Amino acid sequence: MALEDIQNRIAKAEADAGRTPGSVKLIAVSKVQPLDRVEAVLEQGHRIFGENKVQEAAGKWPDFRTRYDGIELHLIGPLQSNKTRQAMELADAIHSVDRPKLAKGIARIAQELGSCPDLFIQVNTGEEEQKAGILPADADAFIAECRDLDLPIHGLMCIPPVDEEPALHFALLAKIAERNGLDGLSMGMSADFESAIALGATHVRVGSAIFGDRVPPAG
Ligand SMILES: *Cc1c(COP(=O)(O)O)cnc(C)c1O
Repeated sequence: MALEDIQNRIAKAEADAGRTPGSVKLIAVSKVQPLDRVEAVLEQGHRIFGENKVQEAAGKWPDFRTRYDGIELHLIGPLQSNKTRQAMELADAIHSVDRPKLAKGIARIAQELGSCPDLFIQVNTGEEEQKAGILPADADAFIAECRDLDLPIHGLMCIPPVDEEPALHFALLAKIAERNGLDGLSMGMSADFESAIALGATHVRVGSAIFGDRVPPAG
């Protein structure tokens, strides 16, 4: 089975890197997947999932939560400010905190709700125009700003550019996290999660290698 195969590869990568067994969390990225594939993975006992759109997550996870205990939902896509509250009510973790305005909005809503999801700050390690994330040069100041807002910052997240060696980006992210005293590293996807684990990933986000190729929405 694909899920079991990925779990075995994660365990091997942990061992090869001298990491504690079980120290890497597998986030099964279920965006755009048919519901029966997601259900099959739930039936196999997996409970940690990732979605990149608030709307799409809202359409499937409240229902799954009524039928399966212990679901942990991670939002991993860019977050529009007007969706902040909905995202915070829906998710256990948000991996895409990437600008002061969003951080301030999260802090305000956390006060109202009396709770806040675990947060990761997304760093645009490749400094790509079209990609979300704080620039590496601005990361230290932004992390400090989030801490001043009392946000529960768990770690950093990155998505390397498609045409570059991902290990360089994973190493850069790990370095920024270390100098800021952050433990969490959300990095590594289907094609490169083993390399990410070797460089310290605590959360890998794996979609197509578990569920199969994403089925584009009809129409
Ligand atoms: C879709 C997505 C993934 C999973 O990608 P795969 O290549 O299918 O494993 C991981 N992270 C983010 C942010 C994504 O949007």
